[in-house]
Amino acid sequence: MKRNADEKHIEHVIEHVKKISLNPVPLHGTERTVVAVLGDERDVDQMRISAMPGVDKVMAVLNPYKLSGRETKKENTVINLGDNVTIGGDELSIMAGPCGIESAAQTEAAARAVKASGAKILRGGAFKPRTSPYSFEGLGEEGLKIMHDTAKRHNLKTITEIVDIRDVEVIDKHVDMFQVGARNMQNFNLLKEVGSTNKPILLKRGMSATIKELLLAAEHIMSKGNPNVALCERGIRTFETETRNTLALATVPLVKELSHLPIIVDPSHATGKPSLIGPMSKAAIAAGADGIIVEVHPNPEEALSDADQALTPAMFDSIMHELKPIADAVGRAL
Ligand code: PEP
Ligand code: MN
Repeated sequence: MKRNADEKHIEHVIEHVKKISLNPVPLHGTERTVVAVLGDERDVDQMRISAMPGVDKVMAVLNPYKLSGRETKKENTVINLGDNVTIGGDELSIMAGPCGIESAAQTEAAARAVKASGAKILRGGAFKPRTSPYSFEGLGEEGLKIMHDTAKRHNLKTITEIVDIRDVEVIDKHVDMFQVGARNMQNFNLLKEVGSTNKPILLKRGMSATIKELLLAAEHIMSKGNPNVALCERGIRTFETETRNTLALATVPLVKELSHLPIIVDPSHATGKPSLIGPMSKAAIAAGADGIIVEVHPNPEEALSDADQALTPAMFDSIMHELKPIADAVGRAL
């Protein structure tokens, strides 16, 4: 659409696209709105749409990233979580908290600590996908309620993993952002379900997924109408066994070239080692990441999941201090 196109013009185009049985997905940028038209291009009467008021030009998008690609939207997507908390804007997003929500007291201690060190988003799983069926699988809705109440007291936003389409409603009610975990990156029904909500989503790269597959997974979400997707590099499986996964840092600048979506790095799951989380967080920010998501537990040795990679509050605090000069160097607020 033209820069000065008004809502009425945009609506008119959307109505027309629906009438010819194609799927219109508006992408609202700061400069202009792009109406992506999904479906068989042979059904599009380009001349007719070009002549509609407010339309700048009609163009075919040949690359596979119709909605997530830079070709479609030049400006970076900025996700707004409310209360001036954004992902992909000038300010870096720091998401921190325990791997799993274990109790009200544990969550309270974690929230207080991460807030004091400068995090604005509390992470924590209530539905945990575990390698063994005998491991702690989370507190379910009870965990979501603890997270909600605790975050409210500390003025934090929240993110939690969704593993089942049946939980969309209950998570939507208590938490600010969905996390789709590595194990579910290509759970297409789950992607479509969260894509049908308006809630922001952190989509984590599958441990054996290519960057192309990651972007196409985002495409699944966006094609359902939810543009608020942030990607997450959390390490991939390689032959290396000294680290839990291998952090593929080149994903960050490459995703910035290919896509307008924000990208967050998870150095906790990528390395599995507390001593490596600080250096990899700094490297992530230097490489252009929009933020980090890290595991912090008030008492790591008592953690019910991912105990050996959890940072203590003191370690997290010193990492936050070390990140400041890196953020300054790349022109990001922290
Ligand atoms: C998590 O964030 O706790 C998690 C399970 O991460 P991933 O899906 O990246 O393994
Ligand atoms: Mn974890």
